[in-house]
This record gives sequence, structure tokens and C-alpha cells, in this order.
Amino acid sequence: MTELLPNHFAGRWQTGTGRGTALVDPVLGTELVRVDSTGLDLAAGFAFARERGGAALRALTYRERAALLDATGKVLQANRDAYYDIATANSGTVKSDSAVDIDGAIYTVGSYARLGATLGERCSLLDGEAARLGREPLFQSQHVLVPTRGVALFINAFNFPAWGLWEKAAPALLSGVPVIVKPATATAWLAQRMVRDVVDAGVLPAGALSIVCGSSAGLLDALQPFDVVSFTGSADTAALIRAHPAVTKRSVRVNIEADSVNSALLLPSADAAVLDLLAREVAREMTVKSGQKCTAIRRVFVPQSQSAQAADAIGARLAKTTVGNPRNESVRMGALVNRAQLESVRAGLAHLKPQTEVLHDGSSHALIDADPAVACCVGPTLLGAQDADGADRVHDTEVFGPVATLMPYRDLAHALALVRRGEGSLVASLYGGDPAALAAAAVELADSHGRVHVVSPDVAQLHTGHGNVMPQSLHGGPGRAGGGEELGGLRALNFYHRRCAVQASSTALSQL
Ligand code: NAP
Repeated sequence: MTELLPNHFAGRWQTGTGRGTALVDPVLGTELVRVDSTGLDLAAGFAFARERGGAALRALTYRERAALLDATGKVLQANRDAYYDIATANSGTVKSDSAVDIDGAIYTVGSYARLGATLGERCSLLDGEAARLGREPLFQSQHVLVPTRGVALFINAFNFPAWGLWEKAAPALLSGVPVIVKPATATAWLAQRMVRDVVDAGVLPAGALSIVCGSSAGLLDALQPFDVVSFTGSADTAALIRAHPAVTKRSVRVNIEADSVNSALLLPSADAAVLDLLAREVAREMTVKSGQKCTAIRRVFVPQSQSAQAADAIGARLAKTTVGNPRNESVRMGALVNRAQLESVRAGLAHLKPQTEVLHDGSSHALIDADPAVACCVGPTLLGAQDADGADRVHDTEVFGPVATLMPYRDLAHALALVRRGEGSLVASLYGGDPAALAAAAVELADSHGRVHVVSPDVAQLHTGHGNVMPQSLHGGPGRAGGGEELGGLRALNFYHRRCAVQASSTALSQL
């Protein structure tokens, strides 16, 4: 039998008492390790994190916590090779895709270490300026931000086991709030190994970082009013979390990062070079991590007159994508995470096909070094919908794989209206050569997107990519995307702090 991974909970390593759920190599079909959370004393584990971990973190200044993050980043960097091996085996990703997750995690931890150092030797933050409450200036109101005295529970999606953990944990730990992470079962191994390395290195205080692998049963029941929960995953699970009594009755603060039907838009009058920038980005977004990215481009809008050209340019790039076993150096795109996801992508394609035509067929890609009967691999498929208005399924179906749909628009107003049919997205990217037109379109889409990524020829070699989430920028989106906000530099700390207005004499306020 394969190894049963221990959970780190209540300050010690504990294996579940059940048989466990097997984690499987999506390319070879072999069992890797097992996870199980049966029998954990959840109330005791949450109390340990809240009381021991929280008190120890809050006793430190922001600069000291930033130093803990710096040390954490160094531990992760030192063990990077092992993480790549786990990602290849458990996520079926090629090296460059594993890097998005693993190096993205390490970069984010380092970024928060640097940002935290700028906050200095203090344990709470001032929020804005003091405001005079009456005619006399002596009595004023000053808002302060203090770390919440609870735990941060993270329930994460399968597609980013490393980055998904650390993009949340870095701002939480910097804020002085202990973390309990429950990674998605399918890919929990990488998150577990990272926590193991950091815990074993002894860089964080006891109770600051815990991990529960396996079932989520009972986790939400253990939440108390000053805890926070940050969820990343499907809209269906998000709805269950929102309706849980911890949220509805105990006012546990909740952040939701859900799915999103993101867009790429070629502005009117773009030349062939700009069209090529769009084609490059669409093909990249479709194939990185086999399209299993919440930020991936799902809908592509181009002027009617450039539709055929765009289909050719994207199709030509996709045709070069070699698919199969990520251990083979000639392979550019690995596997989906498991059979359930493969079935889900096939079902999604079948759902879209009655309203679309196939412009590039994923099934034309022969698998390299992988048995199609076993490997959860699928080639990239570009669909097209001539009637962008009538193809309602395209605007509300997230096929979580290497699939996107190209659609023509009449004019800019039409294009912007079509983008908005996503009903709130994580990110839209704009492609054009006219700075004023790009800026105006970005502001037009800002209310329905967490991020607008603008690509013009001057930044062709510099831009960070439509789907790459940078710690400096906000991640999250309104409406369908879940309404969450993460990252955005120090803005991320707001979620882990409580705001309080202190009304006092200006001399007392000066001591805050
Ligand atoms: P999921 O099925 O909703 O699972 C997400 C997490 O919730 C997993 O850890 C899962 O645990 C847990 N969970 C399942 N049922 C639960 C319940 N009743 N109570 C509490 N937790 C529960 O989503 P997924 O399939 O892993 O992720 C894919 C989706 O995530 C896609 O739609 C993608 O767009 C979205 N996503 C969004 C973002 C973003 O930042 N907006 C980022 C990445 C992914 P188990 O694994 O043990 O079932």
C-alpha cells in the first residue's frame, strides 16, 4: 500500500484513522500516496492554531513576520526539485507549467516578505488620517487595523496546490493570522510536502501553519466569529460555503474565488502584428496547465473582418502543441488532473458543440509517450461561433481544459457587451495599438473584472501574461467569479485585519 500522508494539526503530525483516498498519476494511472483526515479532533486543532499560533504571530511586528516569510521562501527554494517531481507525478504537468505553480508560490512569498519589511516594527496599522469629530480639534477619530484573533481556513482548488496555498498564506501570516489549509484532495501531495518542509525547518511558531488533507467534513463547523475562510473552487461548492451557519449566523468573513469565463478582445483597427500578439496569448492560455487555470482565456472576440485570420493564426500555433507524457522533453502540454476532469472537459465540449463549429480539433493530436486508454490527456480545441449573441452556452460555460471559442463582433460597443455576458470575470485582456482606445476600453470593463490586462506592441516582450496572477495586482472578480479579492500588494492584508475607529483626544491618538 502507498504512504498515508500525515496531517499537521494541533502542533503535531497525525495520520487519519481511515484507509485514505488514493492520489493518482494522471498519465500513468499509478497510485502515488494516500490522504485521510478521519478521526482528527477538529475543535482541538482549531483552538491550538487560534490560541498558540495566533498569540505567537501577533506578538511579532510586521517586520519580524516578514522575516519569517523570507525564511519560509528560502526553505521552499531549497526543496524546489522535490516539488517539481511531485507536480510531474500528481498533476501531470510539464516543467514550465509546474513552474507557474511552484515558482509562482515562491515568488509570491518573497514579494510579501519584501512588502512586509516596509511596514516596520509595529503590531497594528493606522488606516487613513485622524478626523476631527467636532468643532474643537482635540477630540478625533482614527481608524486602526489589527489582526483578527482567529484562524484563516483555506479550502483550495486542485489546479494550484502550491501557489494556491502560498498566495493566501503569505498575506495571512504577515498579518499575524495562523493558517489551516485544506488542499483539494486530487493534488494535496504538493501542498502537504511544502508544509512539511516549512514545519520541519522550524521557521514558523507552533500553530502558525497546519494542513488537513482529505475530507472537508466538519471544517466549517469548527469556525468561530473571528476566523476567516478563503475558498477557491467551483461555484457549486462556493454556494454551500456561503450558506453554512458559520457564515450566515457567526459572521465568519468569507472570500470566494470561483470560476470565470474570461475574455480576450482584439480592438477594432488592430494591425496584423497586434493580431499575432492576441493569437500567441490565446494559444498560450489554452495550453498552459492544459487550460486548467481559473484565469485562462475562454472567449476570444475579434472584428468580423479579421475572424478568419485569427482562426488561422491561433490554429497554427495550437497545431504545434505536442501533447502527452510530461516526462518526454518533446511534450509541451501534459495531462488534465484526473479522469473526472477529462470526462468533464469532454462533457463541456459536447455541450458547446451544438452552438459552435470546430476550428481546431484537439482530437487530431496524437499522444506522445502516453496510452490514450490510461492518460488523462486531451489536445487543445478551438471552437468558433459566428452568432456570438445567440451562442449563450459559450458565455456561461467554463470548460476547465484546453478549450476556447472565437467569436466575431460588429463594433466596439457590441464587443464590450459580449465580454460582459460573462457576468463578472477574473480577467479580460485587450489587444490594440492605440493607447487612448485601450485605456478607454479598460475602464469600460473595470466594473465587471478584477483585472484588465492590456497588450500593445510596446510591451509585447514585457507583459506578464493574461493568466499569470502577480502579487502586485488584484486577483478575484465580481459576480460569477465569486466576488473575492486577493493579493493586490498590501491590500491583501485587509481581509485578515479588523478595522476599528478609536475616538479619543489627539494626544491619546498620537500614541497609537
Ligand atoms: P471544487 O470541487 O469546488 O473543490 C474546491 C475545494 O473545495 C476542494 O478542496 C474540495 O475538497 C473542497 N470541497 C468540496 N466540497 C466541499 C464542501 N461541501 N465543503 C467544503 N469544501 C468542499 O473545485 P475544484 O474542482 O477543485 O476546482 C476547479 C474550479 O476552481 C474551477 O471552476 C476553477 O475555475 C476554480 N478556480 C478558481 C480560482 C480563482 O482564483 N478564482 C482558482 C483556481 C480554480 P475535495 O478536493 O476533497 O473535494
